[in-house]
Amino acid sequence: MARCIVIGAGLAGLVAADALARDGVEVEVLEARDRVGGRVWSARMDGGGLVERAGEFITAGYEATEALADRLGLALDGMGIRYPDRALRPDPGIDRAAALAAAHAVERAAAAEPDAPALELLDREVPDPAIRELLASRAQSSSSYPVEGLTGGHIADIAHLLDDVETRRVRGGNQGLAAGLAVGLGDAVRLGTPVRGVRRTAGRVEVEADDGRHVADACVVAVPLPILGRIDFDPGLPEAHRAAIAAIPFGRAAKLALPLTAAVAPDAVMSVPERFWAYVTPCDEVGGSVVGSWAAAEPVLARLAAREGPDRWIRAVGELWPELPLDPGARPRLTRWIDAEWTGGSYSVIGAMPDGRDRHPVGDAIDGIAFAGEHTAPAPWTATIEGAIRSGERAAADARALLGAV
Ligand SMILES: Cc1cc2nc3c(=O)[nH]c(=O)nc-3n(C[C@H](O)[C@H](O)[C@H](O)COP(=O)(O)OP(=O)(O)OC[C@H]3O[C@@H](n4cnc5c(N)ncnc54)[C@H](O)[C@@H]3O)c2cc1C
Repeated sequence: MARCIVIGAGLAGLVAADALARDGVEVEVLEARDRVGGRVWSARMDGGGLVERAGEFITAGYEATEALADRLGLALDGMGIRYPDRALRPDPGIDRAAALAAAHAVERAAAAEPDAPALELLDREVPDPAIRELLASRAQSSSSYPVEGLTGGHIADIAHLLDDVETRRVRGGNQGLAAGLAVGLGDAVRLGTPVRGVRRTAGRVEVEADDGRHVADACVVAVPLPILGRIDFDPGLPEAHRAAIAAIPFGRAAKLALPLTAAVAPDAVMSVPERFWAYVTPCDEVGGSVVGSWAAAEPVLARLAAREGPDRWIRAVGELWPELPLDPGARPRLTRWIDAEWTGGSYSVIGAMPDGRDRHPVGDAIDGIAFAGEHTAPAPWTATIEGAIRSGERAAADARALLGAV
């Protein structure tokens, strides 16, 4: 029986492992953390409120996510908000149709000049300063990277940040997707097993983990991009892969969840000058009201002092949305995706693919190794839950081809 090791039990790795196992391949999944899910991580506040500590919003076009939830018997609940719809404070009085028209103009310019600085394209295409500031703020927030470092390729689908599809999430928590896959894989998933090295020799792959050496016919490496650069590959990864790992930026973000003393109607409010936002969504059957807040990119995280703790950010949420009944006695939950040990930040910042390819070459299989993970997803799905799932499906096909060659 062919044997494949999958490194990383995030959605990408688990989807790949599940697909291979269903094909009759013997799989073993090695995961550094003591939980599955990676960047989908659901938790409950003291009052029972459901919190997504990372990947949360399931929006338009998430077909692979819908199919996976369906197969695992998980429901997707509407969140009562549209990811793009946020009350702006202070309100610059922007007309939605004008903002959408501006976003489409930016998209056309970005397609023509993918390497031009994003700010230059915004300056040129968007005469209204309030709309320009909104688009800059949204581009920075969603990419979790300073807008000054983004290019046309990164904002080539900026209009989707203004679409009007209701956002959903998995009932009981998005991590249920990962947990459901892990149940099917049973003992094949080994938690608390960081991988340090991958050696390819004589048609075999030897994986060096903290609990010893694991041997297989092929492996799927499904770790985040910064971690890929920290694994010791022998022989080393091809130059093209190494150059991509060094060149692709990786964002930084944090999430704050605060319990409320009373239920509040679903809504979302964004500070355009401060470039962070907060949202309230109905909790599930367990109840408990929570406000979530998102801050991304280094300058915003610094202004909110997210590295130091939640205090300044809590004050900022109170000032942004004074009507919220914040519970001063309740424990906040701050999750930092700044230098998380097994992630190295938030997600990849890829944008337009080189040479008009469908996906970045950093995900191309090499002898004995297939690659999965959001950074290897097809455009425009990098940095998303949907992209992680699609990348896992594709990596399973790559691994099958490698195993067929054993
Ligand atoms: C704060 C935040 C908010 C987000 N919001 C959204 C959103 O609203 N909507 C959306 O669609 N997407 C969102 N995303 C993106 C989405 O969560 C990710 O794209 C997706 O979950 C990545 O899955 P993955 O399997 O590629 O990587 P991961 O989930 O990171 O999985 C990689 C796994 O590899 C493990 N690992 C790392 N190193 C090793 C090692 N050496 N040995 C063994 N195991 C290792 C890790 O512990 C992890 O479990 C968000 C991400 C973050 C961080």
